Amino acid sequence: MAGSFRQIMVKYAANQRLLNLFDKGGSSHVACRRWLNLQEYQSKKLMENFDVNVQRFKVVESAADAKNAAQHILDTNAKELVVKAMILAGGRGKGKFSSGLQGGVHLTTDPTKVSDLCKDMLGYNLVTKQTSAEGVTVKKIMVAEALDITRETYFAILMDRSYMGPVMVGSPAGGMDIEEVAEKTPHLIFKDPIDIDQGIQESQAIKMAENLGFAGEKLQKAAEQITKLYKLFISVDATQVEINPLGETPEGDVVCFDAKVNFDDNAEFRQKEIFMMDDKSESDPKEVVAEENGLSYISMDGNIACLVNGAGLAMATMDIIQHCGGRPANFLDLGGGVQEHQVYQAFKIVLSDTKVEAILVNIFGGIVDCKIIANGIVKAGKELNISMPLVVRLEGMNVNEAKEILKESNLPIVSANDFGDAAEKVVASLKS
Ligand code: ADP
Ligand code: MG
Repeated sequence: MAGSFRQIMVKYAANQRLLNLFDKGGSSHVACRRWLNLQEYQSKKLMENFDVNVQRFKVVESAADAKNAAQHILDTNAKELVVKAMILAGGRGKGKFSSGLQGGVHLTTDPTKVSDLCKDMLGYNLVTKQTSAEGVTVKKIMVAEALDITRETYFAILMDRSYMGPVMVGSPAGGMDIEEVAEKTPHLIFKDPIDIDQGIQESQAIKMAENLGFAGEKLQKAAEQITKLYKLFISVDATQVEINPLGETPEGDVVCFDAKVNFDDNAEFRQKEIFMMDDKSESDPKEVVAEENGLSYISMDGNIACLVNGAGLAMATMDIIQHCGGRPANFLDLGGGVQEHQVYQAFKIVLSDTKVEAILVNIFGGIVDCKIIANGIVKAGKELNISMPLVVRLEGMNVNEAKEILKESNLPIVSANDFGDAAEKVVASLKS
């Protein structure tokens, strides 16, 4: 039941960062929250399975283990080490920790330094361009073999609606400033769609490798990595594989130094092992509680909470709120067979969102009984002491009885006649 809403709303949000980065036609009003999230080390394990070139690594959760892991990697022929904070967001290299430590990615040859770095990373929050202002708590650290990098390129494959299929995106100017490259020097971004039935052609892989600036024997090596990454992309039902940097070394190797893989949640049934790795530790707790109650919750960055039923109504509600000059803080889909206690839980969830300054309930009762919604609203209104403006628009099954219930409750509920009226009233309530 909750699936359809999630599928539509989350899919909409999932590839927004990259689509926005490389295609200015994208839209960004839904927060970039993915359904399945894998950490870099999990993505790299998958890449190893597809014979993609990644360095040896270990994942640790304490400074002592980090030191041992560092020593072990050095003892087995590594010249240098890289210490990386594992959070789902990118931009770690230029991030900052709440401990004061600058940067979530560090190079060193000293195992004691590795352990010292971990002490300033573990348990602290890392803030990057892609996290919220408070950042994300670091619980795991990757210690990996470091290589000298002579050149950093950018390579990604994404499912792009405008191409009706996979598209490769690459730039010879990869590394930590790809956002700036896309913004200031868009001619350095190369795109090439792939025919999903034919798969990637060798000539396409070579052309992309050339566009990325690989030459000599590295041209073939880069084309091989690109081809293997495409095989991974298709085989695991990815919606996005992003390698930044895809680098070259002084020895002439082409290596994937960083990885971010996103997945199509419709493929869960055939990618069970991958979906079991899902790391919910960074998920919004409100989302998790909603899921437990059979509800779907999507966070956004405005201040009007929206309780709706159905993805279509959610999107229309979002549009009309914006049309009236307001901004949604979130969407909570009550679904079809909703019960009174779920309505109550829904209010609890949206009220725990500190951004929320007003609530709009917009329900079209096709399968939903408006009386149940009204009873849920009254229970929530009385028990949760809702002090912010609450605008309710109900339509459909048992709407008159529902309106009567709301009226008799004597709660300060603003009733709206229709959709437009509701949006206008909730936006106006914030101005008064
Ligand atoms: P993020 O994209 O989150 O900043 P990266 O994993 O891309 O994190 O690391 C940031 C930078 O650190 C890379 O652009 C690269 O210059 C360097 N780096 C990362 N991994 C290695 C490695 N194994 N060896 C050498 N340098 C690395
Ligand atoms: Mg990177």
